[in-house]
Amino acid sequence: MRYSKFGLTTQKEVPAEAEIVSHQLMLRAGLIRRLTSGIFTWMPVGLRVLRKVEAIVREEMDRAGALELLMPAVQPAELWEESGRWDQYGNLLLRLRDRHERDYCFGPTHEEVITDVARKELRSYKQLPLNWYQIQTKFRDEIRPRFGVMRSREFIMKDAYSFDIDAEGLEASYQAMHAAYTAIFKRLGLTFRVVDADSGEIGGSRSQEFHVLAESGEDAIAYCDADGYASNVESAATLPFTGERAAPARDFEKVATPGARSIEQLCKMLSVAPEQTLKTLIVAGTDGPVALVLRGDHELNTVKAQKLPGVATPLTMADAADVIAATGCEPGFAGPIGIKVPVFFDHATAALSDFVVGANEVDQHFVGVNFGRDLELPATVDLRNVVAGDPTPNGKGTLSIARGIEVGHIFQLGTKYSEALGARVLNQDGKEQVLEMGCYGIGITRIVGAAIEQNNDENGIIWPDALAPFQVVIVPINLQRSAIVREASEQLYNELSSAGLDVLFDDRDARPGVKFADAELLGIPHRLVVSERGLANGELEYRQRRDTESRNIKREEALNLLQG
Ligand code: ATP
Ligand code: MG
Repeated sequence: MRYSKFGLTTQKEVPAEAEIVSHQLMLRAGLIRRLTSGIFTWMPVGLRVLRKVEAIVREEMDRAGALELLMPAVQPAELWEESGRWDQYGNLLLRLRDRHERDYCFGPTHEEVITDVARKELRSYKQLPLNWYQIQTKFRDEIRPRFGVMRSREFIMKDAYSFDIDAEGLEASYQAMHAAYTAIFKRLGLTFRVVDADSGEIGGSRSQEFHVLAESGEDAIAYCDADGYASNVESAATLPFTGERAAPARDFEKVATPGARSIEQLCKMLSVAPEQTLKTLIVAGTDGPVALVLRGDHELNTVKAQKLPGVATPLTMADAADVIAATGCEPGFAGPIGIKVPVFFDHATAALSDFVVGANEVDQHFVGVNFGRDLELPATVDLRNVVAGDPTPNGKGTLSIARGIEVGHIFQLGTKYSEALGARVLNQDGKEQVLEMGCYGIGITRIVGAAIEQNNDENGIIWPDALAPFQVVIVPINLQRSAIVREASEQLYNELSSAGLDVLFDDRDARPGVKFADAELLGIPHRLVVSERGLANGELEYRQRRDTESRNIKREEALNLLQG
């Protein structure tokens, strides 16, 4: 590709609307352009990268025996009513209406459609196992679209769905996808980790996520290399307290804490550590509000809280009126003593003695509080996010925390959708049997952002070879004035292109500094400089994107070097 014909516009300034480096670089390098909130155009150079991701995903899916199809983006409401998700999916679902006033959605995922295909196409166990996949545009009306293509509203997903006659078959299909995903992310050249995950909206039993590790990742991952444990913090379990609680050393007392509504203010005022306090969160419930009690320094885990009986989904804090009804006091001073709603205590609270809690009275707290003496401690539950240093669930190792970007997700769905939609086949005994399903997603567009997030420096993107829009850039010095340089550059461009390499020939009438800067911003892995001085020795100047120094190579070696 000749740069002058590629219509590429790069930009030096960091765009103000982009918070993280990958989004900034994608805009600066001209990979994407924003149309409106969370909706982007893929420009030619960005599309080249996207196509490379797709090609690798497609190859590995085909190799794993999956069959590509293409389902409609627009799906009828009736199908979603059959699965029950028309009402459950909430505001993430973009709903549409046609001229006959019939309801549709723009697919955020395709379990319903594929199950409809399966119930119509599959008759016998002899047609199984089967895995259908597509690479297609999805729409999710995210509350907070951000980070460019990483959390957009319109995005491209590879979604695959497996069908098996029994749980054993499902396990095999699932493991095949696990292996295919591992091969995909290895080929993409990304540093990733596979973690246990919550099954979330989609439902079902077993699920794992593939995360690209990056500081800016929205997810926290808990792992322990010593015992191989790795889980999204969302679903990483904490253990019940089994130690011996210290005996009470202080008297139970009510103290004035004027204006101390937060743990931070309270700890400052009373000179206690947050670990010595309990916080009481009043959340909305299905049958009136519910109180959740955690150690002051611990964070409530939304996914775990939503699984408790009586807690409303999605998790929402109770409004002021409900807090007053539950505690007899305005928000900020809630505590478990004398509260009038069901209370759940987190496991970690059981270890505390002589702690501080809200007194359910404005500007008042209890200090020197002890279980068994001042309040009863019922069976505790797992309510909080794990933190670094917590034991692994088997109790043998210690957890570390890393940040990750979820790029893939594999689920064992079981019979959730096949049951609801009636997708059955005849088994070996000639009896009807409900299909076992799995579903497997990869965020194609998100991968591009994640790859940049993991591979960049102050000068721009550093593409892993497999993703680069161009493998090599040719930068001629004095192209417009030197016939020798022109001839040599054209020849080199032809030679490398004919050999099947993706070459960007920077034929612009611009200063070398400008060309070098753009080549670095675009993240092209290899750079060849053609100059009169070098040509006089039969040489080119070569540099890899990650290197700081160039070196001279013989002109004839160029192709070998790049292919090797
Ligand atoms: P998240 O937790 O990040 O919202 P999810 O768990 O809801 O994602 P899945 O339903 O598992 O997403 O979808 C499969 C894959 O699609 C995800 O692993 C992710 O890579 C990608 N994906 C999901 N939502 C988005 C989005 N808003 N923008 C870009 N990619 C997305
Ligand atoms: Mg997911």
